[in-house]
Amino acid sequence: MQLANVVGPIPPALSSLFPGVKPTLELFPGSENWSHAHQDVGFVTERHNWQGGKAPQYNMCCPKYFANFRTNLRGGKFSVVHIATECATFSTAPGDLYRTMDDPLGKHHGLVNDRPHVRLKTQQATLYGENSLVAFEDADSGGSIVTLEQPLGTRLLALPKASRIQQRLNDGTLFLFKTSYCRFGKPFRGTRIILTNTKEYASLQRPCRCKAKHKTILAFHATKTTAANSYPRPLCRLWAKVSHDIVVSKRNMKHG
Ligand SMILES: [Zn+2]
Repeated sequence: MQLANVVGPIPPALSSLFPGVKPTLELFPGSENWSHAHQDVGFVTERHNWQGGKAPQYNMCCPKYFANFRTNLRGGKFSVVHIATECATFSTAPGDLYRTMDDPLGKHHGLVNDRPHVRLKTQQATLYGENSLVAFEDADSGGSIVTLEQPLGTRLLALPKASRIQQRLNDGTLFLFKTSYCRFGKPFRGTRIILTNTKEYASLQRPCRCKAKHKTILAFHATKTTAANSYPRPLCRLWAKVSHDIVVSKRNMKHG
């Protein structure tokens, strides 16, 4: 596979086409590959982890700050919002350790009840997960292009807070695309789902079609291993190109 063919030519920088285009926001950025790729096509980028880091106004666990952040999202402060909620306790890779589809909150399961530190970790992840879903809906209502990424089989979308999103997937006003890291040069499958309000991201849909076996990566290691956890760069380049084209066509529609 020629990776160059996946991405194609780099489009002209957005900033030169449209000065004043709104920034992108990456929540839970990890490697920041997504933001770097968006920067490369001319977006101004912002990125924050759940604690906010140097920007406490993005602390998604503090009710006061989160309320303010939601106001910004609903006000359409960002052109594109990408949410990569930490997947460890929502992933199916550790089996039923934390949650099941029938018990997505993990109230009755395995180690969660037996070990206080596991219970705390799970409850905390539930809060980030729920607030990520809230942020997704707020960004959508503010008119932003929005995506949320999780591993295939995630229990995040089984949370009670995801019921409106599930309804909209059924209605066809939200979309779910499947893509695998092996299609972008990684030695393991790494299938992810991308929830979005923008159907043009269908070009990211590239599920695994390998005949050969992949290397496997345990979820526990995946949370710690940069190579396993970070988005493949070619995927990010394609993603940024699609974001760029969506913003350009939205802009042309408005002014055309
Ligand atoms: Zn594959």
